[in-house]
Amino acid sequence: MLTESEALTRLLSHIQPGPATSLPLLQALGRQAAMDLAATLPLPRFDNSMMDGYALRAADSTDASRLLPVIGHQPAGADLHLNCPAGAAIRIFTGAPMPAGADAVIMQEDVAREGDAIRCLEPVTVGEQVRRAGADLCPGQIMLRRGTAITPGTVGLLASQGLREVSVIRPPRVAVLSTGDELVPPGQPLKDGQIYNSNGPMLQALLAKLGLPDSTPRHCLDAVETTVQALSELRDCHDIILISGGVSVGDHDPIKPALAQLGIIPELWRVKVKPGKPFLFAQTQRPADGQPVSFFGLPGNPVSAYVTYHLFVRPALLRWMGASDLSLPSRLARPVTTLTHDGDRPHYLRGSLREGVFFPAALQQSHALYALSQSHALLKLEPGQQLTPEQQAPVLLLD
Ligand code: AMP
Ligand code: MG
Repeated sequence: MLTESEALTRLLSHIQPGPATSLPLLQALGRQAAMDLAATLPLPRFDNSMMDGYALRAADSTDASRLLPVIGHQPAGADLHLNCPAGAAIRIFTGAPMPAGADAVIMQEDVAREGDAIRCLEPVTVGEQVRRAGADLCPGQIMLRRGTAITPGTVGLLASQGLREVSVIRPPRVAVLSTGDELVPPGQPLKDGQIYNSNGPMLQALLAKLGLPDSTPRHCLDAVETTVQALSELRDCHDIILISGGVSVGDHDPIKPALAQLGIIPELWRVKVKPGKPFLFAQTQRPADGQPVSFFGLPGNPVSAYVTYHLFVRPALLRWMGASDLSLPSRLARPVTTLTHDGDRPHYLRGSLREGVFFPAALQQSHALYALSQSHALLKLEPGQQLTPEQQAPVLLLD
């Protein structure tokens, strides 16, 4: 059986960033830039005033008794191409283009206005209150690097360059296939022995949290033929298929035989981790275009599906989407009480984190969905490990 890190390394070696696509700025939010992008406009675009005040030559501001006639008026908007000779001033407003000849702006609070003239109460220096063209960004300068996430700040920057679209890694098309004869979609009546399909909506919610709100839900019964049918249809129009349930070795677990019928040999199956041992990863080429399609087989138990999603699927999706940081955020924390682990596989305990203290959820079993819903953190215990409240350990923060 592979260790968690062997399994992750092996499956990530099969995942490459997806192709580039051009998206409107808002739709690109949270996606990764597909290429380096250079500025075409300087920022600021032209020399302009930082304040409402008067543009002048700094040398004329040193004598508070001197009257400088105000010979023009330049608001923000159209550049009136005014000229400010020595010994004069031009009324100016925030964001307005600097008149030729002026080398500073004096704030209106620092002048005494006397009719059509001003006296400077405080001297200004050359460049004061002037925003210089290109001081922030010059044409040709790389303003966005390939692989960085588009943030609201990036959206503002690209809009300031006059751009409406940006080239980002296309989001993968993801399907969520829930397997199980016992599953009924929420909203329909249950018969004896049936349960609601909770993994499907839960996995779709995790995908939405990662910026993939449009995943395709599908359910299939535990028969191999129907599973083959579902997998081959999903393979034809998706890049990534998350399968819940059916990956163990029970008589009714259809995933491995269905993949075999499609000629797909799993790259890995079963990982030394608790919960989540039956995890499976496989990859094939889409018959129509030869592009890779990845299959992630998650255990049916909801907690196992949730944990294996975070350990294996999330990093793979992030790699596909072009991200460089694939890891979950982590914090150091002390357990609220001594934790021990006697099992033979590393155990991820679910719990919550409050002020640096980890509180394990009451029920640590792989079907305990309510306990999971109260948890937002994972603490890993190695086989034989004991962790006391005096010790700190890294805790992973979940999506
Ligand atoms: P399996 O991995 O298919 O053997 O399923 C393991 C356990 O998880 C069983 O108790 C299933 O009923 C349960 N299970 C499987 N799929 C789902 C699902 N989509 N939603 C909720 N529970 C599930
Ligand atoms: Mg099942």
